[in-house]
Amino acid sequence: MKVRWCIGDKLFGAMAVLVLFVTAGYFGATQGYLKNRFEDYFKEKTTERFETHYKEHQHSWEGIEGIRTSYEGERRSPDQREIALLSPDGSLLFHSGAGDPGSLIRTGKRNTVMINGATVGTIYVDRWETAEDDRIKKYILDSMRTSALRVPFVTGFLALLLGLWLTKKITQPLNRLIPAIHQIAAGELPLRIAVTTKDEFGKVTESFNHMAQQLFRAEEVRKNLTADVAHELRTPLSIIHCHMEMIQEGGRDIPPETLLPIQDEVIRLSKLVDDLHQLTLAEAGRLRLDRSPTDLVPLLDRILDMLKPEAEERHIEMIRSYPEQPLHALVDANRMTQVFYNLLVNAMRYTPSGGKISIRVTERSHEKSRYVSVTIEDSGVGIEAERLPFLFDRFYRVEESRSRHTGGMGLGLAIAKEFVEAHQGVISVQSEVHRGTRFTVQLPCPQQSVNPINGEG
Ligand code: ATP
Ligand code: MG
Repeated sequence: MKVRWCIGDKLFGAMAVLVLFVTAGYFGATQGYLKNRFEDYFKEKTTERFETHYKEHQHSWEGIEGIRTSYEGERRSPDQREIALLSPDGSLLFHSGAGDPGSLIRTGKRNTVMINGATVGTIYVDRWETAEDDRIKKYILDSMRTSALRVPFVTGFLALLLGLWLTKKITQPLNRLIPAIHQIAAGELPLRIAVTTKDEFGKVTESFNHMAQQLFRAEEVRKNLTADVAHELRTPLSIIHCHMEMIQEGGRDIPPETLLPIQDEVIRLSKLVDDLHQLTLAEAGRLRLDRSPTDLVPLLDRILDMLKPEAEERHIEMIRSYPEQPLHALVDANRMTQVFYNLLVNAMRYTPSGGKISIRVTERSHEKSRYVSVTIEDSGVGIEAERLPFLFDRFYRVEESRSRHTGGMGLGLAIAKEFVEAHQGVISVQSEVHRGTRFTVQLPCPQQSVNPINGEG
């Protein structure tokens, strides 16, 4: 079923119900409410006539027999209304009409005549309106009834026109969206729809475009990942393959140094598999975190101790700047060890001999949130500004040859970012070519889950 008819049906159904309600309301108002209003009006009018007579005759019922309660012609007709007036003591003061006053007083409608708060008489009638009044009332009510019956036809027709117009307006954007959804489902991910309105449909279209873009990106990432993994596997596997061939050709005795390159490549492959596993877990939000308040200073010191021999050998100065009091961050110590290890190994890799690496731990606060900030700054080669946005991407290396030579696979920073973000933290980088690079990691302090601010603060 086409969207237009789906929505059109419902819209028209809703309008038809609305029209029926309006008509029923209108009918009820004209027939019930107006009838009562007429009755009230004629009652007041009749009573007023008696009051006026009473006042005009020095507050007495003198000459009441001559009061005109009906029109001339009506007085002689058989449908003349019956009226009686009783004094407060119950004596009959006036009566007009063909019937018996006794039965009128028993069964008729009545109203008291009040002057200055005192009852001066009671009127009894078989109906409040005169025959003439009755004709006018019937004429008005009949004409309203007729128009009440016309209302559903006119409004129904208008509702149909309005419904058609509204249906067209509502379904037009949806009809553009549905083929696009089918195209996306068929794999046409780069597809985008032009946003022509600013209303809800505009927002839906924007969200659709955003979703299509995300899907497209995810698909690109998937393709790139497969290509990158294949690329990373190729080199170590071909090295292993070559060495194995050499071993096979060289006879029985295998000198240990022949096995060393194979072992290196196996280690490299194991690291790649392990890194990819961690990264996939973190990206899927399935990274198990054993978070507890952790003083980051001893954690950093342990890593620095591991790197000390290499730093000493290359005369790289490690400058530590720690707070006087222990500062706790709510983290998984093992995961954060891996983050800082990756950052410090990078700093060592890309800092020439004789350079400096400084590690600073400080406490920061922003809008009632407290967080620990760790800065690792080196005086190394630095990174070009245009490369910084891609630095945390998987398998991204600033310089392919430089990194291959130093053995990196381009996963260290991607892992660091995922781990930090899994802790609701932020990692950022600033760098200047030939001057050095600074990484800042901000991690929440215990008893708060608010995101630290972006950047260095
Ligand atoms: P891996 O960490 O997986 O062994 P890697 O160190 O090459 O490999 P990342 O840690 O993700 O990968 O770093 C990505 C790239 O960023 C590096 O290849 C390097 O070019 C650049 N980079 C990272 N840290 C620094 C730094 N401190 N100074 C200069 N360049 C850096
Ligand atoms: Mg690295």
